[in-house]
Amino acid sequence: MTKSQNTVNDYDAVVIGAGFAGLYMLHRLRQLGLSARVFEAGSGVGGTWFWNRYPGARCDVESLEYSYQFDEQLQQEWEWSERYSPQSEILEYLNHVADRFNLRGDIDLNTRVAAARYDENTNLWTVSTTGGSSDSNTARARFCIMATGCLSSANVPDFEGIDSFKGNTYHTGQWPHGGVDFTGETVGIIGTGSSAIQSIPLIAEQAKHLYVFQRSAAFSVPAANRPLDKAKEADIKSRYAEFRKHCAQLPTGGNLIMNESLATEASEAELRAEYEERWENGGLMFLGAFSDLLIDVKGNKTAADFIRGKIRSIVKDLTVSDLLMPDHVVGCKRLCADTGYYETFNRDNVTLVDVNSVPIDSITAMGLLTGGTEYAFDNLIFATGFDAMTGSLSRIDIRGRNGDLLRDTWAQGPKTYLGLGTVGYPNMFTIAGPGSPSVLTNMVPSIEQHVNWIADCITWLDDNNYGSIEATPDAQSDWVDHVNAVAGTTIYTSCNSWYLGANIVGKPRVFMPLFGFPAYVEKCDEVAANNYVGFAVT
Ligand code: FAD
Ligand code: NAP
Repeated sequence: MTKSQNTVNDYDAVVIGAGFAGLYMLHRLRQLGLSARVFEAGSGVGGTWFWNRYPGARCDVESLEYSYQFDEQLQQEWEWSERYSPQSEILEYLNHVADRFNLRGDIDLNTRVAAARYDENTNLWTVSTTGGSSDSNTARARFCIMATGCLSSANVPDFEGIDSFKGNTYHTGQWPHGGVDFTGETVGIIGTGSSAIQSIPLIAEQAKHLYVFQRSAAFSVPAANRPLDKAKEADIKSRYAEFRKHCAQLPTGGNLIMNESLATEASEAELRAEYEERWENGGLMFLGAFSDLLIDVKGNKTAADFIRGKIRSIVKDLTVSDLLMPDHVVGCKRLCADTGYYETFNRDNVTLVDVNSVPIDSITAMGLLTGGTEYAFDNLIFATGFDAMTGSLSRIDIRGRNGDLLRDTWAQGPKTYLGLGTVGYPNMFTIAGPGSPSVLTNMVPSIEQHVNWIADCITWLDDNNYGSIEATPDAQSDWVDHVNAVAGTTIYTSCNSWYLGANIVGKPRVFMPLFGFPAYVEKCDEVAANNYVGFAVT
């Protein structure tokens, strides 16, 4: 088909992104009998799991939970192979979902949305795309639904000399599809967050030498990944709905088995016993060891000290183990889950380089210069994360009422009502948007909750013949205050995390997600039950 520049197609809704959020949103819109088009920049569906193909990439929420629950047959029939399934399997699952629910016909791949503009006279959004094979690069729709992802906008810091490097460069979030063979090669990796921590042990096994450039040491607990326990799978599948309901009542929307005791009141023996058991069992459940870990810095210190003790016992070289010890509180930056991360620093072919006390001067033709030393390598990996939560939205020219640009509206930090709507941008919904629990939860149920809420909202609008819905300034302002107030009761604002935008130069320091899934869901339900109070309709 030849591409025509001026064709405009009309839909009820346009959805941007085809990850967990976009795929389910499309399915729900179809169930409502609405026409919808999904635009996806990647050449396949899957979002996060399409892009992040670095060695060791896998989920850190157990697969029996990190999966859709909207279709009972799907969740009964799909079989995960591991406790935390690898990227390839999650991608296979999402492709299966696309096929099973016959979604592909309404998805344009290789199609990046460049702009989305709201017309106040018609109440319609016009969405312009680049790339793609469809006969149209403009779509018009009543609803514009952002399923663009919280961690989908790769961050490559603006290092001096970055273009001068003569070797190969990679970003963990844009990894080549065929994989990369580092056998016999030297590798430099910048960053020690979750992506680096998963990939470093595997790259170290392959490479001739690996240089790890660390700005902040990260807390990590063993993932204790293993083949999925078939008895556990059978048990959960025999009561899946009840299990999902139970998880939804926990703060992270995931099965974080919580010990209700306080670390500040526990004896040394109780602390050690609880932490040892959770360390052994593996995974992010470590943070459920005591109920005050995320709200009280004193209680948190007992957990931080325990992990620092583990680092000391695992890493043989004292200077290296000192360098690997984080100085912030645990969980303030997202806790990492690893397979042999700290052990990797006992290898002769791995060098840890501190780029905190002396920052990276520049990238050179041969490698990287820091503190007067040039480290030479063949491959440079940026494990430098993402412009989280707002990055993918800011990269689109989104214009609401009066032609206002979203990235300007959010220049001092994102402002939303419920993380779902923004004043001045009628009929635009953000799935897992800033101001919602999103990245502080098991994201699949969070995404499903948002999609269901949006689908119900659209149904209500149509049933009542309303043309548009938009957050009111008062409701939004109260919500922003609420999100900040909740953050203030936690340890989350005490370090430089991407939750606060601190990883991106010039980004305002605002805590973007909301802690606490159950109270949030209750609020969303209440808003819906009260005729979408806090939103204005026309
Ligand atoms: P995404 O999966 O990010 O999909 C968004 C899609 O939108 C992308 O494919 C992108 O290409 C597309 N897009 C963006 N902008 C445009 C545009 N302008 N035009 C067209 N398309 C566009 N969460 C957990 O809860 N548990 C985990 O274990 C976990 N592990 C993770 C591991 C990694 C490596 C990463 C990076 C994140 C992880 N997350 C995890 C978070 C993860 O992002 C979410 O769980 C979930 O996959 C998000 O789905 P989504 O559909 O909202 O967004
Ligand atoms: P990240 O957590 O933001 O880590 C980025 C790393 O790069 C940090 O160590 C950061 O240091 C460093 N860095 C950034 N800019 C730098 C600079 N200019 N100079 C030196 N170092 C720099 O990113 P990520 O590892 O990709 O993970 C992002 C999120 O994705 C995770 O928190 C998690 O939510 C999700 N994820 C999950 C898994 C999983 O296990 N399932 C795996 C990967 C990702 P600072 O800390 O000092 O900023």
